[in-house]
Amino acid sequence: MRLEGIYKSFGEEEVLHDINISINDKEITCILGPSGCGKSTLLNIIAGIIKPDKGTIKESKKKVGYVFQEDRLLPWKTVFENIKLVNKKASDKSIRDLIRIVGLEDSQKKYPAQLSGGMRQRCSIARAYNFQSEILLMDEPFKSLDYDLRISMVKCLIDIWCKLNNSIVFVTHEIDEAVLLGNKIIVLSGNPCRVDTVVNVSMPQQERRIDD
Ligand code: ATP
Ligand code: MG
Repeated sequence: MRLEGIYKSFGEEEVLHDINISINDKEITCILGPSGCGKSTLLNIIAGIIKPDKGTIKESKKKVGYVFQEDRLLPWKTVFENIKLVNKKASDKSIRDLIRIVGLEDSQKKYPAQLSGGMRQRCSIARAYNFQSEILLMDEPFKSLDYDLRISMVKCLIDIWCKLNNSIVFVTHEIDEAVLLGNKIIVLSGNPCRVDTVVNVSMPQQERRIDD
């Protein structure tokens, strides 16, 4: 997927200015930038939820899974039911497989209120995968979690991605998350927001580590 010459303003405020980026299949692309710079706006443009004022998106993906900063699970449905909800055609077995991959096999009959924040986000990730998305968009999905849990969720996401191997666009303002996850790290900065730096990282994610 390629975004070319993307501009977006809200009223008088120009938010995105001439954004040119490529998102490669089967890679994790991290979008790193400060709060309020336009990351969610850019992700919504990639998702097709917001139309840019100018610019083109080549090879836009039709099936886009979205994991939001706060979980959007239905409180009156169990883990299993929340995941089933987005793709009723999926077999119960395939849903159980996803639940196992995200490590919630012992919690599939629990309700969201009975889960920790990290478990709820794992459930959200399984739900987004069950949508059979060609591309998974994640908007600061671990922001509300403490440091240790954030890092363990990053490792969990790497495991899931290694098993399911699709494209992920991961928005964050935490450098450590971008460095651990990204095959490509796109750094945004400025006002209006532009692409500042693009870094390609060839080291496999499984070999990256943080020293204590
Ligand atoms: P954060 O890290 O806090 O989530 P962000 O980088 O995701 O921030 P955006 O939510 O994309 O930033 O917002 C970028 C700018 O665009 C902000 O100044 C915001 O106020 C403005 N903005 C975003 N959506 C709208 C909207 N629907 N109407 C008007 N202004 C908007
Ligand atoms: Mg945002």
